[in-house]
Amino acid sequence: MQSFQHYIDGRFEDGAATFESLDPADGRPWALMPDASAADVDRAVRAADRAFTDPRWAGLTATARGKLLMRLAELVEEAAPRLARLETRDTGKIIRETSAQIAYVAEYYRYYAGLADKIEGAHLPIDKPDMEVWLRREPVGVVAAIVPWNSQLFLSAVKIGPALAAGCTLVVKASEDGPAPLLEFARLIDQAGFPPGVVNVLTGGPGAGAALTTHPKVAHIAFTGGPETARHIVRGSAENLAKTSLELGGKSPFIVFDDADLDSAANAQVAGIFAATGQSCVAGSRLLVQESIREDFLARLKAKAEAVTIGAPDDMATEVGPLCTRRQRDRIEGVVAASVAGGARLVTGGAAIAGDGFYFPPTILDCSSVPDASSVTEELFGPVLSVVSFRDEDEALHLANDTRYGLASGVFTRSLTRAHRMIRGIRAGIVWVNTYRAVSPIAPFGGHGLSGHGREGGLAAALDYTTVKTVWLRTSDAPIPDPFVMR
Ligand code: NAD
Repeated sequence: MQSFQHYIDGRFEDGAATFESLDPADGRPWALMPDASAADVDRAVRAADRAFTDPRWAGLTATARGKLLMRLAELVEEAAPRLARLETRDTGKIIRETSAQIAYVAEYYRYYAGLADKIEGAHLPIDKPDMEVWLRREPVGVVAAIVPWNSQLFLSAVKIGPALAAGCTLVVKASEDGPAPLLEFARLIDQAGFPPGVVNVLTGGPGAGAALTTHPKVAHIAFTGGPETARHIVRGSAENLAKTSLELGGKSPFIVFDDADLDSAANAQVAGIFAATGQSCVAGSRLLVQESIREDFLARLKAKAEAVTIGAPDDMATEVGPLCTRRQRDRIEGVVAASVAGGARLVTGGAAIAGDGFYFPPTILDCSSVPDASSVTEELFGPVLSVVSFRDEDEALHLANDTRYGLASGVFTRSLTRAHRMIRGIRAGIVWVNTYRAVSPIAPFGGHGLSGHGREGGLAAALDYTTVKTVWLRTSDAPIPDPFVMR
């Protein structure tokens, strides 16, 4: 069996304990992963803390930091096919998607490489004649980055890139489900020439996560995962009062009006819910479709869903692979069954595919008569589309916003004015109009409500890893006047 190591303080090491990682395509163990103890986490955070002030890192110019990030981007690009195979093996995500996504991850590092020496302070036109006052943008300190299993290289790049550009150091915790690609990525950090301790990568479960997020030397927690875990993290941050940024789940509305290009919308809907086997935080998992076209649109979707090629994730022809874990597959099956029992109409799919792998087929449930069904309200993180029809724009908007999540949304219409009204009315961090699931390092990404807060991507994400130092410099040589009056 292949085995993987932690990367702590510039060294690759075995964990005190190990656990087996399962191949989701056949449910069998294929690799041994190191399991970080609280002591491993503590060593990693201390290494990051030392590196933060070590002149080998702290003494670098922002431009030099950018060059290291640029080198990392090149290495990611070169290693993309190898990393993609590892991610596919360990998480079951299809090779078609991992190959393309990891190659694109290099662009995130490139973007933040270029940004490193554009993070500027400011000079203030202060209201006192004998003072110069300016703001220095300084790195916040040690960042704890925690990611879930899906797209680990992507979800860590949107944290590592801006944090390093700002001058921080990090401890990255890969998910215990499918950590292989991120542990392997640590080799690229090493090759790129980052000084020891600047980026540490380890894995382990909730215990390791809790040890990391409550550590007194952690200044910022950048978390991607579910809202329940986020609550633990926020409670834990009462210990270190670290700043938190939370990228959580979603139940994103995908709204199709009767004037839309239905073929294009159907393709976008397939991308929005069946790509990555639905394991995407921005999955358009609630289809809101105008009543007059419901049957037509559902017929198109049903045909597309049933034509999807389900198969081995490492086969380029596969379009839907297994879910990452058995737990995940069983939960989805339970919620679908409960929704059907509660009155939802099964259009296609609905039951796990027999066999050893964690397969679940593309599933469509028409919930128009039961809009409160749990498949409509709960994030499933799987290939399940819940459909609710609406009569007019007001009802569409009401249904779209009738959720505690607020991550993404899609609007399909040919009417420019209606598109603008929907853009204004939808409460979500992202609105895609006549497209879906497009991302870029240049565009901020994130949500509100149960979807979390903070934004990843874009310039503001780098500023998030900085703090402002206000500098007051007196320009007068005269003695300080009355010491009992505030200046
Ligand atoms: P999860 O919350 O169970 O786990 C995420 C990470 O948190 C894992 O690394 C896990 O080990 C760690 N963790 C668990 N308990 C912890 C604790 N007490 N303290 C600290 N860390 C702890 O999430 P998951 O089920 O692995 O992933 C799916 C979720 O992630 C979905 O809700 C999905 O929407 C969300 N997600 C969000 C985004 C986004 O950018 N908004 C992207 C991808 C996934």
